[in-house]
Amino acid sequence: MPASPQCAADMLFHLARSASHPGSDTALTAAQWAALRFFARASRPSRTPSGFARFHATTRGTASQTVKSLERLGYLTRVSSAHDRRSVTFELTETGCDCLGNDPLRVLEAALEKLPPAEVRRLCDVLQSSMVAVAGNQDETVLGTCNDCRNLTRGGEGGADLPVCGRTSERLEASDFARLCVQFSPKVTGPEDSNPDGPAVSP
Ligand code: SF4
Repeated sequence: MPASPQCAADMLFHLARSASHPGSDTALTAAQWAALRFFARASRPSRTPSGFARFHATTRGTASQTVKSLERLGYLTRVSSAHDRRSVTFELTETGCDCLGNDPLRVLEAALEKLPPAEVRRLCDVLQSSMVAVAGNQDETVLGTCNDCRNLTRGGEGGADLPVCGRTSERLEASDFARLCVQFSPKVTGPEDSNPDGPAVSP
């Protein structure tokens, strides 16, 4: 295959379609698998039907139907916020976690696990910058995590030097750092930020 941008785009499209295809031995649809993955990996404030709608580039109505179907199957459960009972997020149940062990996307993940870490890092960088470019054209959400987000700052009560989300002013926990966020905004990178292994803010 020629190493052209067009060829790479064709391969990415084909790979995403074929690797996420649920196959005949699973009762879940591709959208239900995507929702299970999202609710397993997203940060707590993002774990809502509208967060999933942004992640899956679909309507809120369609996303809600998918979430409700997983709730009926016993894979997701709703959790009310301790501060605001009207604010509801969703968590995977034990059955949902078990089900995710048979995720069809694991085949692709296993193939990528064979690459050296530096190549995986490079691949992630290329994919992230491509997502930013595509989202910029189509007014879509870019997903990312705190360390690559321009909203990540430091502060906290009494001048504590703690990681804080500049968008929500919430203190970030260590467990938030590796989770997908639908409010993520990519950093504007310059030449001084071009080292992919450069320093990152630690939780
Ligand atoms: S710093 Fe960015 S990625 Fe992290 S919670 Fe805030 S908006 Fe989301």
